[in-house]
Amino acid sequence: TAPVLTIDGPSGSGKGTISRLVAQHLEWHYLDSGALYRAVGVSAGWNDLDLSDPGALVRCAFDSRIDFLEVVGQELRILINGRDATDEIRTETAGAAASAIAAIPEVRTALKERQRNFRQQPGLVADGRDMGTVIFPDAATKVFLTASAEERAERRYKQLKEKGVSVNLGDLLREILARDARDASRAVAPLRPAEDAVCIDTTGTGIEAVVERVLSLVKR
Ligand code: C5P
Repeated sequence: TAPVLTIDGPSGSGKGTISRLVAQHLEWHYLDSGALYRAVGVSAGWNDLDLSDPGALVRCAFDSRIDFLEVVGQELRILINGRDATDEIRTETAGAAASAIAAIPEVRTALKERQRNFRQQPGLVADGRDMGTVIFPDAATKVFLTASAEERAERRYKQLKEKGVSVNLGDLLREILARDARDASRAVAPLRPAEDAVCIDTTGTGIEAVVERVLSLVKR
Protein backbone atom coordinates (compact mmCIF):
# COMPACT_ATOMS: atom_id res chain seq x y z
CA THR A 1 0.00 0.00 0.00
CA ALA A 2 1.02 3.57 -0.70
CA PRO A 3 2.54 5.69 2.11
CA VAL A 4 0.34 8.31 3.77
CA LEU A 5 1.13 11.57 5.50
CA THR A 6 -1.82 12.89 7.52
CA ILE A 7 -2.10 16.59 8.36
CA ASP A 8 -4.89 17.44 10.80
CA GLY A 9 -5.74 20.58 12.70
CA PRO A 10 -8.28 23.37 13.17
CA SER A 11 -9.18 25.80 10.38
CA GLY A 12 -6.68 28.60 10.07
CA SER A 13 -3.79 26.41 11.24
CA GLY A 14 -2.33 26.62 7.72
CA LYS A 15 -3.20 22.99 7.04
CA GLY A 16 -4.54 23.53 3.51
CA THR A 17 -1.60 25.61 2.26
CA ILE A 18 1.02 23.41 3.93
CA SER A 19 -0.58 20.14 2.73
CA ARG A 20 -0.75 21.31 -0.86
CA LEU A 21 2.87 22.47 -0.88
CA VAL A 22 4.13 19.28 0.76
CA ALA A 23 2.15 17.13 -1.73
CA GLN A 24 3.57 19.14 -4.63
CA HIS A 25 7.08 18.72 -3.30
CA LEU A 26 6.76 14.96 -2.77
CA GLU A 27 4.75 14.58 -6.00
CA TRP A 28 2.14 12.68 -3.98
CA HIS A 29 -1.65 12.77 -4.33
CA TYR A 30 -3.54 15.22 -2.17
CA LEU A 31 -6.85 14.66 -0.35
CA ASP A 32 -8.70 17.78 0.77
CA SER A 33 -11.26 15.99 2.98
CA GLY A 34 -12.92 19.27 3.98
CA ALA A 35 -13.76 19.78 0.29
CA LEU A 36 -15.62 16.47 0.33
CA TYR A 37 -17.80 17.57 3.27
CA ARG A 38 -18.28 20.96 1.61
CA ALA A 39 -19.29 19.26 -1.66
CA VAL A 40 -21.96 17.23 0.13
CA GLY A 41 -23.15 20.52 1.68
CA VAL A 42 -23.39 22.18 -1.74
CA SER A 43 -25.11 19.15 -3.23
CA ALA A 44 -27.66 19.26 -0.39
CA GLY A 45 -28.25 22.94 -1.18
CA TRP A 46 -28.76 22.28 -4.89
CA ASN A 47 -31.37 19.69 -3.95
CA ASP A 48 -33.09 21.95 -1.41
CA LEU A 49 -32.48 19.44 1.37
CA ASP A 50 -33.25 20.24 4.98
CA LEU A 51 -29.97 20.43 6.98
CA SER A 52 -31.83 19.07 9.99
CA ASP A 53 -32.91 15.89 8.15
CA PRO A 54 -30.06 13.39 8.70
CA GLY A 55 -31.65 10.68 6.53
CA ALA A 56 -31.83 12.94 3.48
CA LEU A 57 -28.24 14.12 4.03
CA VAL A 58 -26.91 10.57 4.33
CA ARG A 59 -28.65 9.63 1.05
CA CYS A 60 -27.19 12.77 -0.50
CA ALA A 61 -23.67 11.78 0.66
CA PHE A 62 -24.11 8.34 -0.92
CA ASP A 63 -25.76 9.51 -4.14
CA SER A 64 -23.72 12.58 -5.07
CA ARG A 65 -20.90 11.86 -7.48
CA ILE A 66 -17.99 13.99 -6.37
CA ASP A 67 -14.91 14.18 -8.60
CA PHE A 68 -11.64 15.85 -7.74
CA LEU A 69 -9.67 16.90 -10.80
CA GLU A 70 -6.00 17.00 -9.87
CA VAL A 71 -3.90 18.92 -12.36
CA VAL A 72 -0.31 19.40 -11.19
CA GLY A 73 0.44 23.04 -10.42
CA GLN A 74 -3.20 24.06 -10.71
CA GLU A 75 -6.02 24.58 -8.27
CA LEU A 76 -7.96 21.41 -7.49
CA ARG A 77 -11.29 21.44 -9.37
CA ILE A 78 -14.33 19.86 -7.79
CA LEU A 79 -17.26 18.49 -9.79
CA ILE A 80 -20.56 17.45 -8.24
CA ASN A 81 -22.54 15.16 -10.55
CA GLY A 82 -20.43 16.53 -13.37
CA ARG A 83 -21.10 20.18 -12.56
CA ASP A 84 -18.18 22.45 -11.54
CA ALA A 85 -18.50 23.55 -7.90
CA THR A 86 -14.89 24.67 -7.26
CA ASP A 87 -15.82 28.21 -6.21
CA GLU A 88 -19.13 27.42 -4.59
CA ILE A 89 -17.67 24.95 -2.06
CA ARG A 90 -15.47 27.75 -0.66
CA THR A 91 -18.36 30.02 0.40
CA GLU A 92 -19.32 30.57 4.05
CA THR A 93 -22.68 28.91 3.34
CA ALA A 94 -20.96 25.76 2.12
CA GLY A 95 -18.64 25.79 5.15
CA ALA A 96 -21.55 26.05 7.56
CA ALA A 97 -23.43 23.26 5.75
CA ALA A 98 -20.28 21.10 5.79
CA SER A 99 -19.88 21.58 9.51
CA ALA A 100 -23.51 20.58 10.20
CA ILE A 101 -23.30 17.57 7.90
CA ALA A 102 -19.96 16.46 9.38
CA ALA A 103 -21.66 15.95 12.74
CA ILE A 104 -23.82 13.10 11.36
CA PRO A 105 -22.05 9.76 12.02
CA GLU A 106 -23.63 7.99 8.99
CA VAL A 107 -22.39 10.76 6.70
CA ARG A 108 -18.85 10.29 8.01
CA THR A 109 -19.19 6.54 7.40
CA ALA A 110 -20.52 7.15 3.89
CA LEU A 111 -17.44 9.21 3.06
CA LYS A 112 -14.89 6.86 4.62
CA GLU A 113 -14.27 4.60 1.62
CA ARG A 114 -14.10 7.54 -0.77
CA GLN A 115 -11.38 9.09 1.32
CA ARG A 116 -9.43 5.83 1.54
CA ASN A 117 -9.59 5.46 -2.24
CA PHE A 118 -7.26 8.45 -2.54
CA ARG A 119 -4.45 6.30 -1.18
CA GLN A 120 -2.53 5.55 -4.33
CA GLN A 121 1.10 5.27 -5.39
CA PRO A 122 3.46 7.00 -5.02
CA GLY A 123 1.79 8.35 -1.83
CA LEU A 124 -0.90 10.54 -0.31
CA VAL A 125 -1.02 13.72 1.75
CA ALA A 126 -4.38 13.70 3.57
CA ASP A 127 -5.62 17.00 5.00
CA GLY A 128 -8.49 17.18 7.51
CA ARG A 129 -9.66 16.73 11.07
CA ASP A 130 -9.63 12.96 11.56
CA MET A 131 -7.14 11.75 8.94
CA GLY A 132 -4.68 10.38 11.49
CA THR A 133 -7.24 9.19 14.01
CA VAL A 134 -10.03 7.60 11.91
CA ILE A 135 -9.40 7.49 8.17
CA PHE A 136 -5.71 6.50 8.03
CA PRO A 137 -4.85 5.26 11.55
CA ASP A 138 -1.95 3.27 10.06
CA ALA A 139 -0.33 6.28 8.33
CA ALA A 140 3.46 6.26 8.72
CA THR A 141 3.64 9.99 9.34
CA LYS A 142 1.09 12.10 11.23
CA VAL A 143 1.20 15.82 11.81
CA PHE A 144 -1.13 17.99 13.86
CA LEU A 145 -0.91 21.71 13.08
CA THR A 146 -2.04 24.39 15.48
CA ALA A 147 -1.75 28.15 15.79
CA SER A 148 -3.03 30.58 18.39
CA ALA A 149 -6.65 31.65 17.98
CA GLU A 150 -5.46 35.26 17.51
CA GLU A 151 -3.19 34.30 14.63
CA ARG A 152 -5.85 32.14 12.99
CA ALA A 153 -8.31 35.03 13.24
CA GLU A 154 -5.77 37.35 11.63
CA ARG A 155 -5.08 34.91 8.77
CA ARG A 156 -8.80 34.58 8.10
CA TYR A 157 -9.19 38.37 8.30
CA LYS A 158 -6.52 38.85 5.63
CA GLN A 159 -8.07 36.16 3.38
CA LEU A 160 -11.51 37.76 3.60
CA LYS A 161 -10.10 41.25 3.03
CA GLU A 162 -8.37 40.04 -0.14
CA LYS A 163 -11.74 38.76 -1.31
CA GLY A 164 -13.22 42.20 -0.59
CA VAL A 165 -15.33 40.98 2.35
CA SER A 166 -15.38 43.42 5.24
CA VAL A 167 -15.37 41.83 8.69
CA ASN A 168 -14.45 42.69 12.25
CA LEU A 169 -11.34 41.02 13.70
CA GLY A 170 -12.88 40.74 17.17
CA ASP A 171 -15.95 38.99 15.75
CA LEU A 172 -13.75 36.55 13.83
CA LEU A 173 -11.77 35.74 16.98
CA ARG A 174 -14.96 35.07 18.94
CA GLU A 175 -16.24 32.81 16.14
CA ILE A 176 -12.99 30.87 16.06
CA LEU A 177 -12.98 30.34 19.83
CA ALA A 178 -16.60 29.19 19.73
CA ARG A 179 -15.86 26.81 16.86
CA ASP A 180 -12.79 25.39 18.67
CA ALA A 181 -14.91 24.64 21.71
CA ARG A 182 -17.60 23.02 19.53
CA ASP A 183 -15.09 20.97 17.50
CA ALA A 184 -13.24 19.69 20.56
CA SER A 185 -16.40 18.71 22.44
CA ARG A 186 -18.63 17.36 19.67
CA ALA A 187 -19.68 13.76 20.14
CA VAL A 188 -18.75 12.78 16.60
CA ALA A 189 -15.09 12.88 15.56
CA PRO A 190 -13.95 15.47 18.10
CA LEU A 191 -10.85 17.32 16.91
CA ARG A 192 -7.79 15.91 18.65
CA PRO A 193 -4.29 14.85 17.60
CA ALA A 194 -3.60 11.14 17.04
CA GLU A 195 -1.45 9.69 19.83
CA ASP A 196 1.44 9.23 17.42
CA ALA A 197 1.11 12.65 15.73
CA VAL A 198 3.83 15.28 15.83
CA CYS A 199 2.26 18.58 16.90
CA ILE A 200 3.58 21.71 15.24
CA ASP A 201 2.54 25.17 16.43
CA THR A 202 2.71 27.47 13.40
CA THR A 203 2.16 30.72 15.33
CA GLY A 204 4.69 33.25 14.07
CA THR A 205 6.27 30.73 11.68
CA GLY A 206 6.52 31.27 7.94
CA ILE A 207 5.00 28.79 5.49
CA GLU A 208 8.39 27.71 4.11
CA ALA A 209 9.72 26.76 7.54
CA VAL A 210 6.64 24.67 8.35
CA VAL A 211 6.84 22.91 4.97
CA GLU A 212 10.53 22.07 5.61
CA ARG A 213 9.71 20.74 9.07
CA VAL A 214 6.89 18.53 7.76
CA LEU A 215 9.02 17.21 4.89
CA SER A 216 11.76 16.29 7.36
CA LEU A 217 9.29 14.06 9.22
CA VAL A 218 8.02 12.12 6.20
CA LYS A 219 8.69 8.39 6.25
CA ARG A 220 8.29 6.80 2.84
O1 C5P B 1 -11.39 22.27 6.43
P1 C5P B 1 -12.69 22.86 5.92
O2 C5P B 1 -13.00 24.20 6.49
O3 C5P B 1 -12.78 22.83 4.44
O4 C5P B 1 -13.82 21.84 6.45
C1 C5P B 1 -15.17 22.17 6.42
C2 C5P B 1 -15.89 21.50 7.59
O5 C5P B 1 -15.95 20.10 7.38
C3 C5P B 1 -15.20 21.70 8.93
O6 C5P B 1 -15.73 22.77 9.64
C4 C5P B 1 -15.45 20.40 9.67
O7 C5P B 1 -16.59 20.51 10.49
C5 C5P B 1 -15.73 19.40 8.59
N1 C5P B 1 -14.66 18.42 8.40
C6 C5P B 1 -14.66 17.28 9.18
N2 C5P B 1 -13.73 16.31 8.96
C7 C5P B 1 -12.78 16.46 8.02
C8 C5P B 1 -12.75 17.63 7.23
C9 C5P B 1 -13.70 18.59 7.45
O8 C5P B 1 -15.50 17.14 10.07
N3 C5P B 1 -11.89 15.48 7.82
